[in-house]
Amino acid sequence: MSNYIVLVKQVPDVTQITDNAFDPESGTLIRTRLASVINELDAQALAFTNYMRKVGGDPQSKIIALTMGPPMAEEVLRYSLSRAADTVVLLTDKALGGADTVATANPLAFAIKKIVKDILNCGNDYYIVTGMQSVDGDTAQVPPQIAEELALPCIAYVTGTEFKNNRFGFTRIISGGSQTVAAKKLPAVITVAKYEYPLFATFARTRWANKTEFIQWTSDDIKAPITGVKGSKTSVIRVFPPGKSARKCQQVSDVKTLAKLIVDSYSSENANVGKADSSQTPRYVLPERRADRFDRSFEGTQKEQQDYEILVEKLKELGITDISRIDDADRQNILAAAGEHFHKKALDDMLNGLKLTEPSFRGEVWVVAEHSDGTIHPATFELIGKARELADSLQTKAGVAIAGYQIEPMAKELIAAGADNIYITEDKLLSVFDPTAYRKAIADCISTHWPQIVLYAATPQGRMLAPMVSYRLGCGLTADCTGLDIRDNSRNGYIGILLQTRPALGGNVMATIRTKNSKSQMATARPGVMKRLPTDNSRKGKVINHKIRLTDDDISLQILKTELGTGDVNFAADVIVSGGKGMQNRDNYERLVGAFCDSLSKKLDTQVERGASRAAVEQGFVEHVHQVGQTGTSIGPKLYFALGISGAIQHMIGVANTETIIAINSDPNAPIFKQCDYYIVGTVEDIVPNLVQELETE
Ligand SMILES: Cc1cc2nc3c(=O)[nH]c(=O)nc-3n(C[C@H](O)[C@H](O)[C@H](O)COP(=O)(O)OP(=O)(O)OC[C@H]3O[C@@H](n4cnc5c(N)ncnc54)[C@H](O)[C@@H]3O)c2cc1C
Repeated sequence: MSNYIVLVKQVPDVTQITDNAFDPESGTLIRTRLASVINELDAQALAFTNYMRKVGGDPQSKIIALTMGPPMAEEVLRYSLSRAADTVVLLTDKALGGADTVATANPLAFAIKKIVKDILNCGNDYYIVTGMQSVDGDTAQVPPQIAEELALPCIAYVTGTEFKNNRFGFTRIISGGSQTVAAKKLPAVITVAKYEYPLFATFARTRWANKTEFIQWTSDDIKAPITGVKGSKTSVIRVFPPGKSARKCQQVSDVKTLAKLIVDSYSSENANVGKADSSQTPRYVLPERRADRFDRSFEGTQKEQQDYEILVEKLKELGITDISRIDDADRQNILAAAGEHFHKKALDDMLNGLKLTEPSFRGEVWVVAEHSDGTIHPATFELIGKARELADSLQTKAGVAIAGYQIEPMAKELIAAGADNIYITEDKLLSVFDPTAYRKAIADCISTHWPQIVLYAATPQGRMLAPMVSYRLGCGLTADCTGLDIRDNSRNGYIGILLQTRPALGGNVMATIRTKNSKSQMATARPGVMKRLPTDNSRKGKVINHKIRLTDDDISLQILKTELGTGDVNFAADVIVSGGKGMQNRDNYERLVGAFCDSLSKKLDTQVERGASRAAVEQGFVEHVHQVGQTGTSIGPKLYFALGISGAIQHMIGVANTETIIAINSDPNAPIFKQCDYYIVGTVEDIVPNLVQELETE
């Protein structure tokens, strides 16, 4: 009999964000201005668990919901009781607040241990089920880190399950398709990416939920060693509003105008790739290589940099060249001259900062390579481009850690992409990606060489592996970065550290984060954002073989079925037309996307390829090989058409390098309208045939 522990979280309702929800100064969310709701994916995880209990055939199985949060998080437990949970546990303590993912996963894992001991009486036949990620954190790191703490298999990005031969098989999202796997042993952690069958509460069950006692524990009850701000391995340096999209986001009211815009955009030479140009930012230089030893132009925040500019100006005015000889009178003079800008403590910290020239971390800059069937994932090459840039700034080498079987031939490609050293761990047991075995191989290699920075692609595989490796090695990890820069935080004693910038709260804010209390700084980076360098086959590099002992016990999952897209698709075409779930059915997709491709091809005299969202592929409208996005193909055509596609981040990642994006959607509030160049509101059934006609007559 399996039991279930479901992790649920109360989050701000980011779907209802108002303009006054953020503090204009700091960019931080004023939580009281937003309603609290259950994290949508956790609600789906609860419904998924209820389904597991049903198909698992044992109505006696227990569902225990666990949440960690402030006392008001009780509400999310009442929600769980009213839908499916039998018992609920609230873990609440001020000491647990302000935690990053490591300091969240650790107490949750310890609370799970206590649930197993106190409530499940030490049985091993249970699943821990949770949403893939929460909307406030958006990291997807906590579940794999819980699995790592408890030494359990973890199956992430699950979209369905089947109970056959007395065990569960789980279908999960992987790059290029989907896969069905089973845990080799229980307990196991499952993260749910999508389960669209909501649970409703009956009135009777709601009454019961409202009067049922819940179990409440504090930090002392679970005795977790890593908690709160103190236990966290990352800290937020600043929060700021996201920049305005570089896309035009222009509504078009009629198909005639749209047809004209299509032709003009295609023939225009003016590429509008919706990305910020990072070439404007000066490349970081280590203090010891700067012409002026007082030069502090690479501080983490603008304010810190401005303070240093003022300080250095005053030092120059006062003729001070030797920091170590500054006395109290000099200090008073500087403070008087600086006026309101900084006070005594800040001045002391800044003067101490000026003495620092040694970087805070030493070692190479690494990328963990992702590959399957002998092909390296494109995101790995993009990360090598970034690693090269960071390594050059830090005057060190760029390395790649790669684990697998018969992978040595890939080293040449990785070196040609910009890497210096390739660290290879080969073993037959690494033939296909298994989270536990790969974690062991990569963590062992990292802890042998200790690079100062480790980058992973923010793909389903990278976002699974990185949290496990970083947790195992006691290092901080930042998820899904869109910006990676080397900067100083001199006044706090840090030189040459990695600043990791990422969207949070569903993309409503940006946060810049640094690693603390770690031997290595780790981040996953969003595919399609960093730039791949041109291939240089003349580059020379070194291959270093890393040995590790693996046994069958290191394999945590049994792969039951893998479905990958096959067939010929020319995603290098100048024009791509994608259909989404809004196409409604396969016939519509065939008819409308087909007719539109034909007329565009004739009008623009170019090849036009068909694409699709993942949802359209899952609905069977078109084969997997046509999928565009994070787990499909990343494309960069001149013109991209999104028909009946909502604009989910995983889809838009794949079209970031497109020159012009045009969307047709019946929902006037479709998120894609804020991420495209031109859009028209209407159904594909109405708009597309008219547009085809217009293109033919125009
Ligand atoms: C780990 C992971 C990886 C993923 N990878 C990818 C990926 O690579 N690519 C990808 O696409 N997704 C990916 N997804 C899924 C992604 O999150 C979204 O679920 C998916 O992109 C939604 O597809 P959609 O926009 O077609 O469907 P929906 O989000 O359901 O949107 C359908 C849209 O159609 C509109 N619509 C409905 N009827 C009509 C009509 N008659 N005419 C016009 N418009 C209409 C609706 O208003 C809506 O905006 C991934 C998810 C996860 C968790």
